[in-house]
Amino acid sequence: MADELGSIVVAVDGTSGSGKSSTCRGVAERLGLRYLDTGAMFRAMTWWMLEQGVDVHDAAAVAARVDEPVLASGTDPTGPTIAVDGVDVSAPIRTDDVNRAVSPVSTVPEVRARLLDLQRQIIAPTGGHAGGIVVEGRDIGSVVWPQAEVKVYLTADPAARAARRALEEGGSDVADTEAVLRERDRIDSGRATAPLVQADGAVHLDTTHHTLDEVIGLLVALVEQSLEPAR
Ligand code: C5P
Repeated sequence: MADELGSIVVAVDGTSGSGKSSTCRGVAERLGLRYLDTGAMFRAMTWWMLEQGVDVHDAAAVAARVDEPVLASGTDPTGPTIAVDGVDVSAPIRTDDVNRAVSPVSTVPEVRARLLDLQRQIIAPTGGHAGGIVVEGRDIGSVVWPQAEVKVYLTADPAARAARRALEEGGSDVADTEAVLRERDRIDSGRATAPLVQADGAVHLDTTHHTLDEVIGLLVALVEQSLEPAR
């Protein structure tokens, strides 16, 4: 199966906190694929704008600076990395300030265009062949890589998502966490450019009543099924 997986793209989109990251990392590890967290790229861009004192609610101000930061994403699922201008920002991109600012920054078309180029370059480098990959985000199956061999749309009840996320964040307030998640979903689903949607051909999985292992198993089975006609 390793050969057939050599260039496969698994596109996983869904709402905030639906378990995408843990699921995608688990699937990539089980199948020996690379892993790309596009949310981390939007977070890194947002973190940099905040560091620079750019007003993140001023789309023109954000657009004017979008080409400046140098972003680098490491795609090893056992230890994904994200750096800006050579500095590891894995921790600072997960703060409350970034959580609140990331969806407004992500609505800016120039931000999306810049990151779209980077994402496509990582998925299939021009002239190169870097191996199969699991890519998670909001618009992977619809915009970034509509030709993906496997497309999945992950959702979960907002209360379940908030409880999981609050636990990950070390016991932060569940009601606050749910409010921030709902607001991000509202902006992500309503924006004009590349909104969160279930892509054509995507399989919808509601993870509310499934364990992480179960969801990983379901995705691995979908990938294996997608290879069957080729066998
Ligand atoms: O996946 P994560 O919750 O870390 O994503 C953070 C934010 O980045 C999302 O709420 C969304 O605003 C933005 N995003 C996006 N398109 C993607 C991935 C993330 O707009 N492909």
